[in-house]
Amino acid sequence: MPRMIEARDLKKSYHRGGRELPVLRGVSCQIPDGAFAVIVGPSGSGKSTLLYLLGALDEPTAGEVLLDGRSLGGLSHRERDALRRNELGFIFQSFNLLPNLTAVDNVLVPQLPQGVSAGDRERAGELLAAVGLGDRLDHRPGQLSGGEQQRIAIVRALFRQPRYVLADEPTGELDSQRGAEVFEQLRGLQTVTGATVVVVTHDSRFLQPDDLIFEMADGRLVADEAALEGSV
Ligand code: ADP
Ligand code: MG
Repeated sequence: MPRMIEARDLKKSYHRGGRELPVLRGVSCQIPDGAFAVIVGPSGSGKSTLLYLLGALDEPTAGEVLLDGRSLGGLSHRERDALRRNELGFIFQSFNLLPNLTAVDNVLVPQLPQGVSAGDRERAGELLAAVGLGDRLDHRPGQLSGGEQQRIAIVRALFRQPRYVLADEPTGELDSQRGAEVFEQLRGLQTVTGATVVVVTHDSRFLQPDDLIFEMADGRLVADEAALEGSV
C-alpha cells in the first residue's frame, strides 16, 4: 500500500456541563506521503482537533487514524512517544520558542535528548541561513520579528527530518505579507527535505493549485457534507 496517513470516520466530542459537544462528526481523509495538505475552514470548525488526532497528540472518541495501514490506537505508549519524537515536527501559531535561547539553540532543542554535535550546530546555522536568518543566529526571540520567530520554529520542526510536519495556524499571528512568506518557506523546506506537510489555516489566500485541500465546516469535511445533503 502507498505510504500515507489516513483518518477513518474520526469523531471527537467534549463534555461540558453534562452535555456532549461534538467537535468532529465523522471525518475520513487520506494524506499520501509527499503531499502539501491544507486543512482550511472557519474558526471553531474542528481543524486543530483533526490535526492533533492526525499527529497522535490526542485520541479520538470514535474512528481511527492509520499510519501506513496501522492504527495509532494499537500503539504502545512507548511507540507513540517514539513516533511523535522521531517522525513528527510541530509548528504552532505562537511559535513556542524558548526566550533565553538563541535562534540556533532553539532549533537544537528537540535534538537535546540525543546530544548535540558540532555538526548539528553547523547544520542548524545552515538551515537558518536558508530561510534568510543567517545574520540572526545568535539573536534571542525577543530581538526578532514575529515572522523571523516563526521561521526559527519551522527550521526547528524540520531539523530532525521528520516524516510529517504539522502546523496549526502558523500564520495566525502574522500580517498577510509575513504569512505568505511563512507558507513559502514551508513549501521550500518541504521540497528540500521531502517531508509531508499538513497545515491548518482559516485563510484560503495561502492555498496553491497543487495543494491537497481539506475544507472543514462544523466538524465535517465539506465534500462529505455535500454528499450527505445529496443523499436526502
Ligand atoms: P478550529 O481549530 O477549527 O478553530 P478547534 O478544533 O480548535 O477548531 O475546536 C472546535 C470546537 O471544539 C470549538 O467549538 C472549541 O470550542 C471546541 N473545543 C476544542 N477543544 C476543546 C476542549 N478541550 N474542551 C471543550 N471544547 C473544546
Ligand atoms: Mg484551531
